[in-house]
This record gives sequence, C-alpha cells and structure tokens, in this order.
Amino acid sequence: MSQVLDEVLAANAAYAQTFDKGDLPMPPGRRFAILTCMDARLDPAKYAGLSEGDAHVIRNAGGRASDDAIRSLVISYKLLGTREWFVIHHTNCGMETFTDEVMRGLLAGSLKTSSIDASGWHDSGDGPGSAEGNYIDWLTISDNAKSVVEDVTRIRRHPLVPKDIPIYGYIYDVKSGDLVEVPQATEAGRPG
Ligand SMILES: [Zn+2]
Repeated sequence: MSQVLDEVLAANAAYAQTFDKGDLPMPPGRRFAILTCMDARLDPAKYAGLSEGDAHVIRNAGGRASDDAIRSLVISYKLLGTREWFVIHHTNCGMETFTDEVMRGLLAGSLKTSSIDASGWHDSGDGPGSAEGNYIDWLTISDNAKSVVEDVTRIRRHPLVPKDIPIYGYIYDVKSGDLVEVPQATEAGRPG
C-alpha cells in the first residue's frame, strides 16, 4: 500500500473513533463562505477558527474567482444560506511564479513535474507534452492585492450574486499567520 494512503486511512480511523458530529445540519451554521488557495500551508479551519458544520470553504489554485468558484458560491448562498463571503489570497503564492505562457510551454514540453530555480521554471522535456494547456486560463497572479481586488470585484458584479451580501478581501501572511485586509477589495465588495 502507498505510505500516504496508509497514513490517511489510519488517521481517518482514529478520527471516526471519537467522531460525534454526525447530526450536523447541511447548511453552514455560521452562515459564511471562504474562497481561498489550495496551498498546503493554509489551513482555513485553523486560521479562521472553523469547526465541522461552520462554513463553506472553496479552494482552488490561487483562491481565484473562477467560474467554478462562483458556481460554488452561488450554491452556498442560494441553496445553503450563507450571508457573508471572504476572498483570501496569500503571500508567497505559487501562482505568482508563472504566467499562462510559461505554464503552456512547460506542458508542451512534458507532463512530468517541472522544477524551479532562480531563473524560473524548467521542464524536463521528457515528453510527450500537450498543447491542451493553451486552452486553459491558468488565472495566475502578478500582485496579491490586485488579484484580491479583481476577484472580489468579479464576484460583486456577477449577475447571479445578490447585491446585499458583503464580500471581504484579505491576504493571509504565510510567515506570521495573520489575515491582512485589502481595504480596496472590501470596499469593492461592499453590499450595494
Ligand atoms: Zn497559493
């Protein structure tokens, strides 16, 4: 068995042993949702103080307001009653290390894991690769605060998002654990 698979199943067995949250209702009890990055250093349950049943956490690379993230947020409000949303990006995000052009070039070279050094990303070139990367918008980030403002603004203006829900914009600092507000984003996310 894979070591990771083994570890995950052992951890789950221990969790289930003392599990006592089997009767929680489906709608999040604290009625809010967080859109954040999948980065392994971020633990929204810890950085935002969540327990099972409290809130929706929607994660993708960068915590970007992709069509699919908006799909989840709309379901979160329309069917499950959340009333406040957070967009939380973070310092030192991997999405700042490449562009669409770079990612497409790496994937065209091979599907193997690339490496990064001071001069940027390098592919092993051990192909075959694929041109399918050309058809994906990778939603990379050039500036943290700017990406939070952009995403809050996109969500705010989306025709399926109600005007009365506040959307807060924050950057999580991976060095200190702090959530730092992006005032321009929170301003853009103000209910109208
Ligand atoms: Zn990230």
